[in-house]
Amino acid sequence: MAAPDAIGYFKSVRHLTEAALEEYALGRGSRPQRERVEEHVERCAECRERLQVEIGIAALVKTAAAKIARPGSRARRKNSAKP
Ligand SMILES: [Zn+2]
Repeated sequence: MAAPDAIGYFKSVRHLTEAALEEYALGRGSRPQRERVEEHVERCAECRERLQVEIGIAALVKTAAAKIARPGSRARRKNSAKP
């Protein structure tokens, strides 16, 4: 039942925003921005996990975009499910 101010030091730990993680995952953002993300995830497991998810999504989006861009590569969809 601590007052919010009692854990005030948490306020100084700013987590990365969704946008920052997304930009990073997509390979965008300026160098300082990317460095900030890297520095933060080095110390913050929470944001590291979030970044992994974003990178996973970004990879999926890229794969999907590539498939759409090259209709010839529409391979067998039925039996290619992941284990
Ligand atoms: Zn964080």
